[in-house]
Amino acid sequence: MPLKCGIIGLPNVGKSMLFNALSNGNAVSANFPFCTIEPNEGKVWVPDKRMELLAALANSKQIVPTSIEFVDIAGLVKDAHRGEGLGNKFLGNIREVDAIVHVIRCFEDENVEHVAGGIDPVFDKQVIEHELRCKDIDTLTKRLEKTAKSGPKGQQECNVLKHFLAELERGNDARTIQIEDIDQPVVRDWQLLTTKPVIYFANVDEATLVGKKSPHLMALQEAVAEQDAPLLVGCAALEAQLNGLTDEEKQFFLAAYQLTESGLTKLIQCAYTTLDLLTYFTVGPEEVRAWTITKGTKAPQAGGVIHSDFQRGFIKAEVISFEDYAAFKNEAACRKAGKLRIEGKDYIVQDGDVVLFRFNV
Ligand code: GDP
Repeated sequence: MPLKCGIIGLPNVGKSMLFNALSNGNAVSANFPFCTIEPNEGKVWVPDKRMELLAALANSKQIVPTSIEFVDIAGLVKDAHRGEGLGNKFLGNIREVDAIVHVIRCFEDENVEHVAGGIDPVFDKQVIEHELRCKDIDTLTKRLEKTAKSGPKGQQECNVLKHFLAELERGNDARTIQIEDIDQPVVRDWQLLTTKPVIYFANVDEATLVGKKSPHLMALQEAVAEQDAPLLVGCAALEAQLNGLTDEEKQFFLAAYQLTESGLTKLIQCAYTTLDLLTYFTVGPEEVRAWTITKGTKAPQAGGVIHSDFQRGFIKAEVISFEDYAAFKNEAACRKAGKLRIEGKDYIVQDGDVVLFRFNV
């Protein structure tokens, strides 16, 4: 299952524009609250500069990066949990994603209507978060009613449900609630919206991007600082202009804004780390390819991402760290220098490992 990030936020904050820029795709972007009625999905490459070096060293014909998916989820409005706007459909779509990118409007533009009247990022953030919590309260209440009828075997779950309900009603998101390991599976089973990791994307104007002080952005930064969540600052309109440019043109364009990389690159990489993902490589004359695993994955399961035979018939993995490969320039030199490690089934694959699996089925 490819991992998905859902782009959410109030209408007219720049979600579709950001999604379009990300996917180079065809999501509708217009000055109209519900222009993205169906969730639009797009796969994006995860940029990784290490691959170019590996391909140059190994003389590989092509580079195949790994990818993640973004979903543009239609605009949420106040009272969505009661069915306002696209209400429950929207909230159901969020349930299917692994992480949330919450776009918050900080840009001023009198030609683009703001649904709540004026630009107020902290308020907008609260509106969305309140809706997600209300939906979770709804889910928990229904679950509690059902579980309470199941007698003594449901007692422990009822206790945890009540604890969660109290915390959410106090305005805390489920992701901040401490739980015992033993309760983890049952909580996961509830599929609460506020357990999903969130990345905030402040959509600012070009002037703010190059250093102009924005009270809107500062207020948002202050609000997010209290949370354990990343806040990225970007400009969807500018990202959209980068589409279709060559790499060289992009660098030139970004340099004009004193930027070294695009906001999208930062967003994709941030999503990747927020999802606890890491990359290992396979390197050969045909291709350098990146493979995605979650942190803590052992060698056989990591091999299973390439082919189930690698996992089933796993014998060993020959591993060179990216740093060693870069320093010694090729496999033979790494081997000679003792930098090629033979690892067994309990080896936990690390980010940047160059791996060759030995298997027998
Ligand atoms: P959504 O409803 O959140 O998906 O918003 P859209 O992406 O459809 O954008 C709504 C309107 O805001 C469109 O007219 C966009 O051109 C405009 N817009 C989006 N991002 C920016 C931005 O960064 N700067 C400015 N000035 N306008 C933007």
